[in-house]
Amino acid sequence: MKREKKEDKFLLEEMTWEEAGQKFKSTDMVILPVGSTEQHSLHLPVSTDSFDAYWLSQEVAKRVKSPKPIVLPPVNYGVSYHHLAFPGTVSISPDTLSAIVYEIGCSLVGYGVKKILVINGHGGNKAAIVCAAQKLNYEKDIRVFIDSGEITSKEVNEIIKTPDDTHSGEYETSTSLANREHLVHKNKIKKTKLNFPSSYLRFDDIHYVPWVFKTEEISVTGAIGDPTKASKEKGKKIWAVRIEHLVKFIEQVKGLK
Ligand SMILES: [Zn+2]
Repeated sequence: MKREKKEDKFLLEEMTWEEAGQKFKSTDMVILPVGSTEQHSLHLPVSTDSFDAYWLSQEVAKRVKSPKPIVLPPVNYGVSYHHLAFPGTVSISPDTLSAIVYEIGCSLVGYGVKKILVINGHGGNKAAIVCAAQKLNYEKDIRVFIDSGEITSKEVNEIIKTPDDTHSGEYETSTSLANREHLVHKNKIKKTKLNFPSSYLRFDDIHYVPWVFKTEEISVTGAIGDPTKASKEKGKKIWAVRIEHLVKFIEQVKGLK
């Protein structure tokens, strides 16, 4: 990444404490990327969610007008118990993830932070992040916004047509082709038959009953969705629309007192 002009620096990891102190005087908003270290089928690396969350956070911050929010170093582990049958998956508990997000927020109170946008790369993290957000709102008067892709679900539904495409399928393989193509094992991309025990448990069913599952009981490869339908072009469109909406969102809320 090109080095930012001094007054526009937004990556906390590159700041000295003096620079961070100055920056916190200009903004009360931070972006916290949260990912996972978990299997992503035969063709994507285990860091996919973490890389995507941090990459997206930076692409968004680059485009926000000054004063930009500060992008925190990412949380690279998430709640991935359901993927542990696949080697390389490393999970922390929902309680731990919730505590990490909460305690990061607590550290920031003294610098005047009032808003945290969590850019979450892994759906399994949502409940834990919401728990932390409830406590930060109530105890520390910090508003926490959480986007796991919901901000563009309308547009994405026009690009991604595969039903139940939630993990390493058409969506995620496309987005990986668009931002980290060299780590996509194209010769390993294949369609998997999914075994849902009930139609009510299909993620796209109109009568969907939310449930907690073990991935290996649904999918042999670990993918849920159809990676054979993925393309770099779809991925680029998805990233463009997510970046556009997140930038607009930040511009709308960053000045709120
Ligand atoms: Zn993922």
